[in-house]
This record gives sequence, structure tokens and C-alpha cells, in this order.
Amino acid sequence: MKVFLYNTMSRAVEEFVPIKPGFVGMYGCGPTVYNYAHIGNLRTYIFEDTLKRVLTHAGYKVKHVMNITDVGHLTGDGDDGEDKLEKSARETGRSVWDIAKFYTDAFFRDYDSLNIIRPTIVCPATQHIKQMIELIQRLEAGGHTYIAGGNVYFSIDTFPEYGKLARLNLDELKSGARIDVDSNKRNPKDFVLWFTNSKFGEQAMMWDSPWGRGYPGWHIECSAMSMYYLGEHFDIHCGGIDAIPVHHTNEIAQSEAATGKKWVNYWMHGEFLLSDKGKMSKSSGEFLTLSVLKDHGFDPLDYRYFCLGANYRTQLQFSYQGMEAARTARLGLVDRIASLGDEVSKADSVGDAAKGYMEQFDSFVCNDLGTPRALSVLWGVLKDDAVSNADKRYVVNYMDSVLGLKLSEVKAKKDEPLDCPAQVMELVGKRAQAKKDKDWALADTYRNQIDALGYVVKDTPAGPVVSKKM
Ligand code: AMP
Ligand code: ZN
Repeated sequence: MKVFLYNTMSRAVEEFVPIKPGFVGMYGCGPTVYNYAHIGNLRTYIFEDTLKRVLTHAGYKVKHVMNITDVGHLTGDGDDGEDKLEKSARETGRSVWDIAKFYTDAFFRDYDSLNIIRPTIVCPATQHIKQMIELIQRLEAGGHTYIAGGNVYFSIDTFPEYGKLARLNLDELKSGARIDVDSNKRNPKDFVLWFTNSKFGEQAMMWDSPWGRGYPGWHIECSAMSMYYLGEHFDIHCGGIDAIPVHHTNEIAQSEAATGKKWVNYWMHGEFLLSDKGKMSKSSGEFLTLSVLKDHGFDPLDYRYFCLGANYRTQLQFSYQGMEAARTARLGLVDRIASLGDEVSKADSVGDAAKGYMEQFDSFVCNDLGTPRALSVLWGVLKDDAVSNADKRYVVNYMDSVLGLKLSEVKAKKDEPLDCPAQVMELVGKRAQAKKDKDWALADTYRNQIDALGYVVKDTPAGPVVSKKM
């Protein structure tokens, strides 16, 4: 099965060709664990999960690596401000280590409840300081660094391709650059690889290094850990769209300057979730978490459905109305699937009509993760009377391995044995016959007679179901 993906580097949809046949090395930037993840962050992880599921569905073995940023992410992207974890520790009176553990655990609770498959490797930055120091040493040996004011900087002028992902115009940037707060920088776009000199004094998290006791800059962790686990050239790097101009741009500069060769083949970015006030963001302090959605009575999978209903490359406006529509749709799917019975066709006995739906589904998801259209194919097969219930069950399982909505776990509805008088059953039978004959008036007459006897009849895809009136 061929997979086509939008590559931010080329700004085009390209056929995915792995470096090693049958295998995908994939890195996604993980959370900064100084606060709860908001549902915008979670949208990005749902997109990455869908990518991984599609590649697995297409027959690849995927090695997925994700970092946990538990040090080095400053409140400003231009190396200004305070370390986000240190700030949170100072404000709450807890230790940085406690904060990192608390929010990492909370993050994975959300991750699991959204049915996101855990990465193959989860790597906290604080456990990979050695790899970061080694990479900085390599950059130093290659002449890509300088020391100023006690910090080690990456010099972007030593990497002519700087800014290629974001297509930055460096001359324009230089001429329009504000006077940078960090006067140590030779070029305003240079960035810190290692801090020994923090304006916030003694940090809780510091390590010895060849340049003195200190802590790493934010960007170096992703280069060091991805190369450590996936090698110096790997297939896919992903993250949120906000990472393109600084974080991923700097990751590329460090990695390719160190190795002297191309680092990543495909760059993929998920678009923002928007709130009423624009991009949902952690630093603004105004954001929605999954717990808030649960408090409003939503299942986390309603949010997953909500996200799958939009293409990952388009902005998605959050609204409770949209969430309600997603919940109704998801429960509608569950209800239909529960009415199908337990039987699941064997792969070699699935009929052509069902196969047609699976092929359509594949063509959509393999075309740059077209989940909205894939969902409509799922609805299509469930509504199609020409497909048997057992085949529908098979198709649902097939599609759910990509959608991750736990539809394959839906149990068949077992109608309660009802002590129903023979007279009622006879009327139900007659009504069914009248409907078959399209004699709607007669069908309504029988329904009224059933009603008068204290019973209701409901039509389901599996046939009429009778219950006692409440
Ligand atoms: P952070 O924990 O802040 O480092 O962010 C984790 C991930 O969420 C990153 O890949 C961000 O690019 C992404 N992200 C941040 N805000 C949003 C948003 N409003 N919508 C979608 N993704 C986001
Ligand atoms: Zn990163």
C-alpha cells in the first residue's frame, strides 16, 4: 500500500519512501511538562498517532520516539525568559522533579484515554544530558559554536542552509531585526546550546560540562535524542506548526551542521486548535484540558472524533457545539455497530461490496491522512444494506485500527428477553409486513395498537425491537 504525505520541507504531497524497506523511524516533539497539556497540544498528538497508525496499517514497522521536555524550555523562544519548569517550581513551592513527574503522569493519562498508542521510546531530556554534551562538542569541533557571556552559542552563519524549512529570508530578518535582548549574540538568530550563565542565578537543574556547570538550551535535546535512538538520518520528524520557524529550524541547523548530511526526509506539522481568542496556548494560561471536557460530560473519544473530522493541516475551531455533534456521531456509530451482532467475517470470506469500502478507506487515509473522508466511508458501509452484518463488523475492525475510536471493542446489543404477549408479537409482525408493502398508514395503525397494549416498537438496523412503555 503506497502512502502519500505532505512534506513541509518541499511544501508538497510526496510518496513516502522509507530509508529502510518496511521500517519507519519517526520522531515527534513531546510535551513541556510544567503544566497540563491543553486540548490543542493533544490535537497534535492525535495527528501523530493517526500518522503512526496509517503507516502501520500500510505494513510498516514504526519506531516512534518522543521526548519529554523537562529542562531547558525558556518562556521566550529567543533564549530569553526563565526555564518553564523552574518558574513553575518557584511559583508553586514544589521541586522541579516533582513538577516534571506530576505533569508527565497527567500527560500520559490523557494520552491513554484518547487511545493514542504510546511511543516506542519516551525519552526525558534530563536523562540524556550526556548525548547533548557530545553533540555540542561535535559542533564545537566543526567550528559552529562560540562562547560569549559564559554561554555556548550556535552560529547560524556557519550553516548556509539555515532557515530552509521555514523558508526564512535571512537578509530581511537581519535588516528588520530588533535589538536582541541577548547582546552576546553575533547574529540575532543564533541560539544557545549550553547555558552556564543564567540571569536567574542558581538553577535546581544543573550539570557539569566542558563549558562549566549549567544546563542545555531547548533545541539541542531533540537533535541529540532523535539521532541517539533513530540514527543520523531518519524518515519522519513531526510536531505542531508553531515549531517550524524556530525550534525545528534550529534542530535542523544543529543536526546537519554536526553530521554534514541530510538529517530527516519528511517533515510533518499539525495545524492549530483555535479557541475563541485564537491559538490555544499554555503560556497564556487560558486553555482547556481533557478533564474540563470530561466535566462537561464528554468522553475523551468524542474529542478524538472531533479531531478526526478535520484534516490535520487545517486550523480547527473548538466549540462545545462541535463537540456535541462529534459525540452524537460517535455514539451513533457505536449504536449501529452494537446492532450488528457478534459475528465477524473471516478475511477470505469478505464480500466485494465490503472490500470496495476498505479500498476507498485506504485511498483516503493513505492520501495525507484524509480522516474526514475516511469517516464518511465508515458511515457509508454501516448504512449499506447490501453488506452483511458480519462483513460490516470486519470492515469496522479494519478501519478502527487507523481511527482508534475503540469501535472494534463495541459489544453486540443483547436484547433482554421480554415477556411479550403473543398478541403484541403478532402486531409487530403485521406492522413489519405493512412497512415492507410500503403501506405506512396501516403500519401506523399497528404501531398505535401496540402502544395501546403498553409496548413500544423501535426500528433498528437489525430489525424491530420491542420494549415495555416506561
Ligand atoms: P508544548 O508542550 O508546549 O511543548 O507543546 C506540545 C505540542 O503541542 C507541540 O508540538 C506544539 O507545537 C503543539 N501545540 C501547541 N499549541 C497548539 C495548538 N493550539 N494546537 C495544536 N497544537 C499545538
Ligand atoms: Zn523538538
